[in-house]
Amino acid sequence: MPQKRPDRTLGGPHDAFWDWCARGELRLQTCTSCGHRTWPPVEACEACGSGGLDWERMSGRGRIASWCTFERDYYQGTLPLPYDTILVELEEGPLFLSNPAGFTRQEIEIGMPVALTFVDAEDSAGPFRLPVFAKG
Ligand SMILES: [Zn+2]
Repeated sequence: MPQKRPDRTLGGPHDAFWDWCARGELRLQTCTSCGHRTWPPVEACEACGSGGLDWERMSGRGRIASWCTFERDYYQGTLPLPYDTILVELEEGPLFLSNPAGFTRQEIEIGMPVALTFVDAEDSAGPFRLPVFAKG
């Protein structure tokens, strides 16, 4: 059973991001002019304004930079409460907001290594693969 999730942001470069996730790859945009890596998806580089952006595959390795636990129902019962959210500093540099897979807040330590995995999820637009992070 796919996990029910709040609706994703779709359209424009967001669709390309989810297409890569469907193939089991985490890819973020990298500017072909200045090399800046950006997240979330943009139409033009947020550092230099160039429209030349390549989808660079991330290694999937990172470390937990921060985390928090949500105990309030912001999504009308879509997510069971409480749920943990982690901020992962990817090996390549960008910060990526995600959820822990297979561990909870009791086990989280700042700087803890984590590794990318995907879970089958579903929102009102249909099924998709959601990037999450397991202990690395
Ligand atoms: Zn740039």
